[in-house]
Amino acid sequence: MKLKKFVLAAAASLLLATSALADGTIGISMPTKSSARWISDGNSMVEQFKKAGYKTDLQYAEDDIPNQLAQIENMITKGVDVLVIAAIDGTTLSNALENAAAANIKVIAYDRLIKNSANVDYYATFDNFKVGVQQATSLVTGLKERFGDGPYNVELFGGSPDDNNAFFFYNGAMSVLQPLIDDGSVVIQSGQLGMKKVGTLRWDGAVAQARMDNLLSAHYTDKKIQGILSPYDGLSIGILSSLKGVAYGSGDLKMPIVSGQDAEVPSVKSILAGEQYSTVFKDTRELARVTVGMVEALVKGTKPEINDTKTYDNGVKIVPSYLLEPVSVDIKNWEDILLGSGYYKMDQIK
Ligand code: BGC
Repeated sequence: MKLKKFVLAAAASLLLATSALADGTIGISMPTKSSARWISDGNSMVEQFKKAGYKTDLQYAEDDIPNQLAQIENMITKGVDVLVIAAIDGTTLSNALENAAAANIKVIAYDRLIKNSANVDYYATFDNFKVGVQQATSLVTGLKERFGDGPYNVELFGGSPDDNNAFFFYNGAMSVLQPLIDDGSVVIQSGQLGMKKVGTLRWDGAVAQARMDNLLSAHYTDKKIQGILSPYDGLSIGILSSLKGVAYGSGDLKMPIVSGQDAEVPSVKSILAGEQYSTVFKDTRELARVTVGMVEALVKGTKPEINDTKTYDNGVKIVPSYLLEPVSVDIKNWEDILLGSGYYKMDQIK
């Protein structure tokens, strides 16, 4: 009799546990809506988590660190099952993540590594070094195509110094550019190199535009500039405005080659208009798919699929990661890559 009761109770609690899992809630903390890519990330995750039977609590922090911290703390208090976080500043979440660990909530770093914390379980991202390599490779291709043989005058822009990705993009790009700087075929007239000098806080396009204005007036009144390494479409658009402001792209003054990232609509349009030269497409639907897969594995108590266990040292541990492949996009392949994959429809672009 006692045994029967015990078996019944055990079965009931199993049932309870399974139903709790089936409609578990996933907390998704995204940095900002000011860039379309994060909106796509959020939407794709909500859609895919829903299909997999989960509820979601999706929050955007508008690039405000205290805001993101409050949103995450709130998710922890509400008792989400797993946290998926794209950090604004990857170094500011340690305390919040201690609370998550204490509440037994697993954490996935989404796209951006969370630093200085043991409480990051997995990392889903793209091959960020390769993004930088692709940006610089396309810059060099464009320089040869538009300006013939060098040397070329180039300026460098970096992403936000509080985003670990920014260093990977920069280092990837420099793996291509540094040898050309060393042999004199690429010249940085301003002498501004290194993330300390070229970083752009919060990936702010207006900040990049103002820096480009300053570079142009300080170093390019006689000389002309031929190329700009830009790590993100939002910066590229600001840089292009600055260039257009002093007549690049009109008359005899050729538009410099400007790279980018994220294949955002304004930049795809700019590429079609012959302004921005290239971008890097990172399929956010795929990143969402990998992340949902990781969450499902964690909830079921199995091991998430990873393909990298050495690249992403967050200062406390190497975070097991899944890296997706970025794709370089320019005027020649945009249709194939962006429309062919169904990421955009023609009427969004033209
Ligand atoms: C992302 C890029 C994005 C940038 C600015 C980075 O962490 O990896 O895709 O362009 O943030 O939002």
